[in-house]
Amino acid sequence: MTDQTLSCFSSYHNHTTWSDGTASIEAMLVAAQEAGLGEIGISDHYVLTPYADEDLDWAMPRAGLDDYVAEMLKAAANVDITVRLGVEVDYFPETFEAAIERVGQYPLDYLIGGVHFANDFPIDCHASFWGPLDQAQVDGVYRLYWERVLELVETGACDIMAHLDLPKKFAFPPSVRFDEAAARAIDAIARVGMVAEINTNGWNKPCEASYPDAALLRRCYQAGVPVVISADAHETGAVGQYFQRAARLLQDVGYGETVRFSERKRSSVPFGVSGASSGA
Ligand SMILES: [Zn+2]
Ligand SMILES: [Zn+2]
Repeated sequence: MTDQTLSCFSSYHNHTTWSDGTASIEAMLVAAQEAGLGEIGISDHYVLTPYADEDLDWAMPRAGLDDYVAEMLKAAANVDITVRLGVEVDYFPETFEAAIERVGQYPLDYLIGGVHFANDFPIDCHASFWGPLDQAQVDGVYRLYWERVLELVETGACDIMAHLDLPKKFAFPPSVRFDEAAARAIDAIARVGMVAEINTNGWNKPCEASYPDAALLRRCYQAGVPVVISADAHETGAVGQYFQRAARLLQDVGYGETVRFSERKRSSVPFGVSGASSGA
């Protein structure tokens, strides 16, 4: 069903069968068009992990960028919605420079940077990885996560910082607060001119909260960090999911606009908030 109220929004953080999504690029673009979004971007995972030599099943083949970009451009020509080309690149200190060099050879509209690992610990893969951790180890994952986020941001290589506060996903909370580490990361996002996302997929997860939560969004607003709304969709049904809920939260925090990207340059777009009280 087309929702005219979504036309002021872009959706840039979406996955397809090129990485860990379940739908083709074209199917995701059609879903965005049918949902009434203003713009759609695809951002499949590009990962150079220092911990494995083979391609990963949840990321595009390391040598697949040519074909990924070609398929994106072809699919974009077949739909009646503005399509933006992106990638979600993983931060590992050992390999990030090489990853950025590779993706930088393509005409990306935006580059999303994400931290999914604390060293070799998979933060958002499955709760079963968290279950065996004692509290000190849980705290250690959060600590290292925020260090890695700060490192990623300070490279200045990406446009959008993905899912801040991702370690809360499976509801294994830390015993100490990481407000200062998070504030340092957010201040760095402002300093280097990056954008944060409000990632609505957290509302589907055990943490039942957006990434980042309202408190960190408030901090982003105070620091002057622009935002985009991201569904982090891995299936057609999730394209544009919870965008109005996210918009209401952003408005509560003080935001009145989100940003769009084209050829890695950004512009601001005011958004409205639908009066509907559904969770959509
Ligand atoms: Zn991610
Ligand atoms: Zn993602």
